[in-house]
Amino acid sequence: MYWDWSVRSYASMLVRSENPSVRESERTIVRTTMIYSKRIQNLPPYPFAELDRKKQEFKAKGKNLIDLSIGDPDLPTPEPIVQCLQEAAAKGANHRYPPYAGTTKLREAVTRWYLRRFGVRLDPFSEVLILIGSKEGIANIHYAFVDPGDIVLVPTPGYPVYPVATKFAGGIPYLMPLHKTNDFLPDLGILPDNIAQKAKIMHLNYPNNPTATAAPQTFFDGIVQYAKQHSIIVCHDAPYTEIYYDGHRPHSFLESKGAKEVGIEFHSLSKTFNMTGWRLGFAVGNADIIKGLSQIKMNVDSGQFGAVQEAGILALDHEEKLTPAIRHVYQERRDVFIEAMKKTGFKITPPKATFYLWAEVPPGQTSASCANHLLEEAGVVVTPGTAFGEAGEGFIRIALTAPKEKLEEAAERLVSLL
Ligand SMILES: *Cc1c(COP(=O)(O)O)cnc(C)c1O
Repeated sequence: MYWDWSVRSYASMLVRSENPSVRESERTIVRTTMIYSKRIQNLPPYPFAELDRKKQEFKAKGKNLIDLSIGDPDLPTPEPIVQCLQEAAAKGANHRYPPYAGTTKLREAVTRWYLRRFGVRLDPFSEVLILIGSKEGIANIHYAFVDPGDIVLVPTPGYPVYPVATKFAGGIPYLMPLHKTNDFLPDLGILPDNIAQKAKIMHLNYPNNPTATAAPQTFFDGIVQYAKQHSIIVCHDAPYTEIYYDGHRPHSFLESKGAKEVGIEFHSLSKTFNMTGWRLGFAVGNADIIKGLSQIKMNVDSGQFGAVQEAGILALDHEEKLTPAIRHVYQERRDVFIEAMKKTGFKITPPKATFYLWAEVPPGQTSASCANHLLEEAGVVVTPGTAFGEAGEGFIRIALTAPKEKLEEAAERLVSLL
């Protein structure tokens, strides 16, 4: 009988879905009766909605768009990592729940890599936690340490997850502006004392998205002192440490003396190995902070697929062999594009790291008007700086996530705009 019911129900569903007017009215009912949480009602509008709409409009007109707005590598994951996953996916042991903190073998691979790459020693059992992509950990950390009304220090312009996840946990984001005049580093000297006293967490992100700057170790040293003085947990988001230029290798926050007493670092395989779709990252550093995050995670997820973790071990153990080729591609793209852009009115400082360029818009334009102009007149899609917060006004972000030839063509189109 159950089967009969199911077939009939399925058939009637098919009929209804063929009739768009019925579907539309059903959607309307959902929209008017569903009351979303304040959490969702208070979400800022999706910053790319207008741009997405314009992009679709231009594509529909058959225009040849060059999209330089995407913060996701266009390059494939290196073949050995893919092969490792294919074999690991067939192993029965990987079909079961993985350990909550991640497999011991991957946590050990993380400690090996941190020692080789940064000279930082970590205990794989208490100072490493595997994440389902670092965004997951960055969002969840607030539930472990932020109570309603607590302040969280957030860089702006910056990754929207820091302020949004702060609010989800009932916290209040306090914005730390990143100005060109201060090399896009937050100025701790201007943070009011009462704010510093009440702050639970400080988010930092170097090499930085969207400003493409790297932080000197002396900056991290100062952060450690400040965090100790005010009992603030430092969360350093570091997914771009392996995307750098001219041989300038970025530092880890944990290289600073005393950093492990005050903070953790979020890392990700997403950008380092072109693995954004795989969802694999990790948090390393202070054992008490790691413990708090793991207690939240234990109650909301059950870890990343064991086979993906196995492939992650191969990636980290062979990082030195895998990443030079990836960096080479970005270096070429950056150099070609910056050279071609010299003939335009844009002032672009060549980035030291990340696959972004943070360009000042020409005089008399805003981020939005500039991005619109480039889309409408040249078919080049860039991200207005304001998508990363109001402090991004006056800038656009250009992503080097397109082939060299496309970047050259984009630059040519921009030159002819003059
Ligand atoms: C890409 C990115 C991440 C990494 O996200 P995953 O969830 O690990 O894919 C984190 N922070 C910033 C600023 C990023 O740009």
